Amino acid sequence: MHTIGLIGGMSWESTAHYYAILNRETAKRRGGLHSAPVIVHSVDFAPIEALQRAGDWDAAGAQLADIAAALERQGCGVIGLATNTMHICAPQITAAITVPFLHIATPTAEALLADGITRVGLLGTRFTMEQRFYIDELERLGLEVLVPEVGITNLNGIIYEELCHGIVREGSRRIYVEAIEMLAARGADAVILGCTEIGMLITDDVSPIPTYDTTDLHARALVSAAMDDA
Ligand code: GLU
Repeated sequence: MHTIGLIGGMSWESTAHYYAILNRETAKRRGGLHSAPVIVHSVDFAPIEALQRAGDWDAAGAQLADIAAALERQGCGVIGLATNTMHICAPQITAAITVPFLHIATPTAEALLADGITRVGLLGTRFTMEQRFYIDELERLGLEVLVPEVGITNLNGIIYEELCHGIVREGSRRIYVEAIEMLAARGADAVILGCTEIGMLITDDVSPIPTYDTTDLHARALVSAAMDDA
């Protein structure tokens, strides 16, 4: 099994979930005391978030590309970036490495298509919902993507002001469920939890349509890729 290189810390709350899933999935697949060979490079999120707000994706991408290259030099055979939003920098990262970079949208789209779902709602940060980088990738993979028409500021705020601090509020859960209800009313057959913290707030138990959690799907796909079993 290859060593997995995980670029995390955006936020560390969701990276902790990745770490647990990587290890549980490896143990499930390999048995015994097997756990995931993984190097987690967890960044200080504050300066990255400041670059996001400034729209300086090139500077943020340069940092992430340097980290990816360092993980490759340390022997990682596959690289994952534990945030949907920062996949805006995926081209810079892939250009910096020769080992595979597993885009978070790939296993997400594959899981939906395997379940026969093509029309899907997308929840995430404002960058993920309003810019094209993520939607384009999902569409290229064969999905029709709906994003909320209202409430994006609120949905975005809940991610940065609550979930990234590990705060889970019932009122915020209701706001997300309402957003999912509106996507379902417009024809979405499932919803992508397209931010690696949303799984802390929303699960299939509370959602009116099936959820596809990018954290879970991406982490498990990283294990498959590391086992050359993708
Ligand atoms: N973890 C989040 C995501 O998946 C948001 C934090 C960030 O901006 O990276 O998009």
